[in-house]
Amino acid sequence: MQFRDIVGQNEVKEHLIRTVAENRVSHAQLFLGPEGSGNFALALAYAQFISCTERSDTDSCGVCASCRKYNKLIHPDLHFSYPFFRGGEKEDSMADLEEWRDLVLTNPYFNLDEWRERLDAQNKQPNINKAECMNILHRLSLKPFESEYKAMIIWLPEYLKNEGNRLLKTLEEPADKTLIILVAQNQDQLLNTIISRTQLVKIPALDQKEICDYLLKTKNISESKAAQTAYLSEGNLQAALNFLKEDDNDNFRLFTGWMRMTFADRGPSIFEFVEETSKIGRESQKNLLKYGINLIRECIMVLSDASELVHLPGIELEFVNKFSQQLDLAKAEALINEMDKAYYHIERNANPKILFLDVSLQFVKILKFNTLPAGTQYILN
Ligand SMILES: [Zn+2]
Repeated sequence: MQFRDIVGQNEVKEHLIRTVAENRVSHAQLFLGPEGSGNFALALAYAQFISCTERSDTDSCGVCASCRKYNKLIHPDLHFSYPFFRGGEKEDSMADLEEWRDLVLTNPYFNLDEWRERLDAQNKQPNINKAECMNILHRLSLKPFESEYKAMIIWLPEYLKNEGNRLLKTLEEPADKTLIILVAQNQDQLLNTIISRTQLVKIPALDQKEICDYLLKTKNISESKAAQTAYLSEGNLQAALNFLKEDDNDNFRLFTGWMRMTFADRGPSIFEFVEETSKIGRESQKNLLKYGINLIRECIMVLSDASELVHLPGIELEFVNKFSQQLDLAKAEALINEMDKAYYHIERNANPKILFLDVSLQFVKILKFNTLPAGTQYILN
């Protein structure tokens, strides 16, 4: 992975490159950035840059012996740790290393759901257990084999939980020429003791234009489609790619159908919808909810007399204009609230059938019977 392969994030790249040029590479760093921001890709490119023997002022060379091994993720001084789904006390991440390499090489913007699907882990809980911590410590104790530096990239250290305490001493005083990069998404799920021992590198979500430009360059799609996808993705490149992967109109078809059948309280259709949606996979379910939240947000614009801010093409615009007439602000807010909650629960492995049935029943209450669930509040930003 070279810096030039990474979408946007120019300021972060410049900062990282400067640390090498000025010879002040911190041995323990926390790359904190939201899903789809490229924080993992940046960690990998940074390690490759440091290890490269022919690097330029701005990037690794891509062809030296070190880079060639980095390109395949088989450099002996490049180590990874990541959550895995095996439950046994003695299990560590090494058993999934081949799958891991394959996923990273296919898509360095992957998220936990993709990793879960890759391992066919279904509803199992991810974790980084004690055995894996011992494995991390062991690998960090090795002398570098070929490079000056050895690098350990720990993806989603949120899953270390209290086991993370085992790493504190090493984070504080690692062996010489060691680079430990923690690639995290949620600062509040990390141990403070870990945060305080690492140098923070904040990685922002991508901006819409960066995603739009990238899609135009790499995908054969129209400008309006790229702009719309970038807008819906909210700075998450992975989400943008997922939106495109799906059948263009599938989210529109599913979501608008869902609204119509719950508005009319059509039981059999709702059961069919739940059945179909429970089978599309977690990532698509999340996309559907995100898509729905965005469309209802557009309805709120219309309801707030801010139609000029609605920028949707064709059929979606038509739907938003019509459907807004069935809503008021409180109902729209309640719908968004339900979908937000559902999104949260899907990320935490809720049973999709029960979840979508439950959300559908809430929609019926809101849309058909004008009953707002308790706790609905106006949070309109
Ligand atoms: Zn190189």
